[in-house]
Amino acid sequence: MNTSDCAPKLQDSMLTYEQALKAILENCQPLSSETSTLSTALKKVLSEPLKAAFDLPQFNNSAVDGYGVLVEDLLTATPQNPVKLKMVGEVAAGIQECAGLTLNQGECARILTGAPVPGTVEAVVMKENCRVDGDYIHVSCKTRIGESIRLQGEEIEAGATVLKPGTMISPPIIGLIATLGITEFKTYRSPKVAVIATGNELKEPGEPLGEGEIYNSNSYALVAALNAMGVQNVVRYHVRDDREETAKVIKEALENSDLIISAGGVSVGEYDYVKDVCEDLGVDTVFWRIAIKPGKPVYFGVAEGHTFDTCDTSIGDRKLVFGLPGNPVSALVTFNLFVKPAIMKMQNFESKPKRFKAKVARNLKKKSGRLDFVRGMVTATELGVLSAMPASGQESHMLTGLANANCLMHFDQDLEFLPEGEPITIDLLNWFE
Ligand code: AMP
Ligand code: MG
Repeated sequence: MNTSDCAPKLQDSMLTYEQALKAILENCQPLSSETSTLSTALKKVLSEPLKAAFDLPQFNNSAVDGYGVLVEDLLTATPQNPVKLKMVGEVAAGIQECAGLTLNQGECARILTGAPVPGTVEAVVMKENCRVDGDYIHVSCKTRIGESIRLQGEEIEAGATVLKPGTMISPPIIGLIATLGITEFKTYRSPKVAVIATGNELKEPGEPLGEGEIYNSNSYALVAALNAMGVQNVVRYHVRDDREETAKVIKEALENSDLIISAGGVSVGEYDYVKDVCEDLGVDTVFWRIAIKPGKPVYFGVAEGHTFDTCDTSIGDRKLVFGLPGNPVSALVTFNLFVKPAIMKMQNFESKPKRFKAKVARNLKKKSGRLDFVRGMVTATELGVLSAMPASGQESHMLTGLANANCLMHFDQDLEFLPEGEPITIDLLNWFE
């Protein structure tokens, strides 16, 4: 079955991982743009081109601390027979006094790194090749035209487009924008998110636990995963396993968010209300259930904001709803597989997993029918050969296994056995990008 066969309603059958991802991405659209600054733009995605208003470097400048010279003066210079030059000035970065200095035969000028190189200077010899002797220096090597001079415009010419829309803003890109002298620019808005934990058994960390109760870890882990990718505008909710309460909170979340991520209450249990409540509220189900492990019951739906009376109009009209499974590993793995690419697409960034082939470090066994994302530790054993070892604690309630993992190994849907040493696809797990 190809994906077009699944459209428009995909919920009747279990999708493959690829079909589910495709269906999600088809339903994501870029959010509006907003103004970012050098201190707020990290991890955001540029929505306009940024051009250079001037050449970079802006002027010829020295790459080293040394002495500006005429090349001909040093034709005979060797360590045994250094050439003596008279120092006639000094140029330091940011100090303009000697920028117009003229060198005559037998003369040199001290120039510090980044300082403008006067027009008559042909090369800068490194300080390390010179010995100072009062107002003179002894140079022990030849040079050539342009040595250690960074040329105006050699990196970027004035008017050039330096950064294209769709660029993810990393630390060097922040540096580049600052170098261009730009302080404000347009980036895609990152989504406003509601994270909803479900379950009567949940208590907040720090509270005393009653019998059969556990601490709510999903809310914290999911908010952390959002924050780690630069999404800060997040509201947390907890609902008990009560249909009305669930409906009230999901409605409020739909009115106030671009993206809703619930965890738990989405399977086939008595108290699993998330999917039904979403549908009652007008959310269009795109799919429910994927042939993967962990994460089979994942629900995905789309709602249009104008169908709600009191919708926050400062945010986008389209709302995405992810109902993730409640087991902590399932919630985070499916966040990584599906929510993360959706958030990137909402910022007009096509994210690709960092996918490699590795040798599986021990036999793998399972039932066929679902793609198993085995939490693994990948290491490079020899040049270019990766080895992936399943982490201990593979059950979907065992966060330790995921905490120790640096990759998700794709144990194919149809396979039941994969012997040690066979190649396996892995996606690197990096919560921070
Ligand atoms: P559910 O899908 O609601 O049946 O939840 C599956 C499992 O995940 C159950 O064992 C829940 O107790 C557990 N679980 C659900 N939500 C959370 C949460 N927020 N934090 C930790 N565990 C959870
Ligand atoms: Mg539950």
